[in-house]
Amino acid sequence: MITHYCPACWREIAGTEAHCPDCGFDLAQDQALNFEEKLLRSLEHPVPEKRYLAIQILGQLGSQAALPGLEKILDTEVNDIYVLREVLVALSKIQGPRSRALLQKAAEHPFQTVRQLAQSLLARPAEPGAHT
Ligand SMILES: [Zn+2]
Repeated sequence: MITHYCPACWREIAGTEAHCPDCGFDLAQDQALNFEEKLLRSLEHPVPEKRYLAIQILGQLGSQAALPGLEKILDTEVNDIYVLREVLVALSKIQGPRSRALLQKAAEHPFQTVRQLAQSLLARPAEPGAHT
C-alpha cells in the first residue's frame, strides 16, 4: 500500500481527501503540479527513502531545476552520507557547467567518502546516456 503525505505539512494522509485534514492544503491542486515539481518538493521529504528516490529520478531526468536543491543538500546535510552519495551521482548525470561546479565543490567536502566519490565522478569522461 502506498503511503501519501501532505506536500505542505508532510502529515500522513489517506490519499483520497480533497484537502489535508491537518493544514487544509488543497490536495487536488497538488495533483496539477508537474512531476518534476513534485520531485523537487520531495528533496526535503522527511522519509530518507523518498529523498533518495527523488534525487535519483531528478538525476535521470537531467533536471537543471534540481541543482539549487541538490546544492542545498550538499551544503547542509551533515549526517546522511547516503543522501550525499545520491546527490553526487545525480549531479554527474545532470551535466552542464553548474552541476560540474557543484561536483568540484563536493571534491572539497569535509567527508572523505564524499570527496573521493566527487573526484572519481569528475575524472570520468562525460558519456551522455551511459549507465553508472
Ligand atoms: Zn497538510
